[in-house]
Amino acid sequence: MSAASLSGCCDQPGLMPFEQALAQLLHSVAPSTEVEWVSLPQALGRVLAEDQRAGLDVPPSDNSAMDGYAVRIADLLEAAGKPLSVSQRIPAGADPLPLQPGTVARIFTGATIPEGADAVVMQEHVRSVGEQVVMPVDALLGDHIRCRGQDIASGAAVVAAGVRLQPQHLGVLASIGVAQFPCFKRLRVAVLSSGDELAQPGQVAKPGQIYNSNRFSLIGLIQQLGMELIDLGTVEDTLEATKRALADAATKADCIITSGGVSVGEEDHIKPAVEALGEISLWKLAIKPGKPLAFGRVAGVPIIGLPGNPVSALLCFQVLARPLLLKMQGDAAAVHSSVRLPIQFSRPKAQQRREYLRVRRVETDAGAALQPYPNQSSGVLTSVVWADGYAVIPAGATVEPGDRVEFIAFSDLR
Ligand code: AMP
Ligand code: MG
Repeated sequence: MSAASLSGCCDQPGLMPFEQALAQLLHSVAPSTEVEWVSLPQALGRVLAEDQRAGLDVPPSDNSAMDGYAVRIADLLEAAGKPLSVSQRIPAGADPLPLQPGTVARIFTGATIPEGADAVVMQEHVRSVGEQVVMPVDALLGDHIRCRGQDIASGAAVVAAGVRLQPQHLGVLASIGVAQFPCFKRLRVAVLSSGDELAQPGQVAKPGQIYNSNRFSLIGLIQQLGMELIDLGTVEDTLEATKRALADAATKADCIITSGGVSVGEEDHIKPAVEALGEISLWKLAIKPGKPLAFGRVAGVPIIGLPGNPVSALLCFQVLARPLLLKMQGDAAAVHSSVRLPIQFSRPKAQQRREYLRVRRVETDAGAALQPYPNQSSGVLTSVVWADGYAVIPAGATVEPGDRVEFIAFSDLR
């Protein structure tokens, strides 16, 4: 990859570099401080508000990793292949007696090791002789014993504040016995689409209409982040209606997301409406797709005005609105992760804007590589269904096949 003409590529007046826009967005909001207690079955996707520490060892005692016999190695050596008596039976959940010297105990997976035993012999290695059993002589100290606290030591932090809880976190919190814990209140996010051309799916589209797709992409994106959705439908393309809808949204939501109407045409009312109710900046971002983006406040509530083109709306949500919302929600990992992979295409001419190409990750003889969707137009929404992520071509760079670029998988944008 080469930085063909870095100077002058994206520092032209009015075109804001992506990093600057993201930094400015994140700087403008503070993490949530409102906390509520949430119980385990409701906690998936919630952001933990306080570190959770174990109040006990996990497992709480040494226990058997196998079905077999709990033994004392010294007794096995002394028996030297002669049969031994079975002095007790210990299923999982039982509280065993100390192991009688010169005997073994029948034991099952997960059962507590009796005091005095120092190994477990697998049942497959034991031969029964009447009521007695013959043990191998090569068992080793500690064989098949899961030690107390080997997973979690009492007092250890198991999940930190700021983690958005995934199924594995719920499991580990359950394993230390906590049933509920403080989480940040779910952020309330209002979604509003602008555009007189928008028909509602399920209804007959009149001539000149298209179906409102952004509304549903955005609903899905917000629900996927575990936030509370306030679906405000579509607003007609007038200044008055837009002002009314935004003022209403500000009374209900912690953040407002709109799509469309952020250019500077006569039919674009988001900017003047927000200006009338609060403050707004309209940014021409140096990213493609997605140039126009509005950011401001309505009655103190942050608002992001996404572009109308469906791919632009989706991408701008994922790379700009998503980190903003996650920061507000208290998520410590607000910005997505990515990897670098070689590409199977070229961009011989440097672009002024950072480009997000819809690509598929494919396996080749030389390893993973990125293949682009043939039509990268911002109106071609099927490109994001075909693709499984974005290849990011920095502003001012040229690339050729084999160059490694940043790949952001859609699965890392959840
Ligand atoms: P605008 O920014 O309002 O000028 O919209 C830019 C383009 O995106 C136009 O072609 C709109 O028809 C289209 N568009 C705007 N909003 C939506 C939406 N909610 N669903 C699908 N397409 C939209
Ligand atoms: Mg419009």
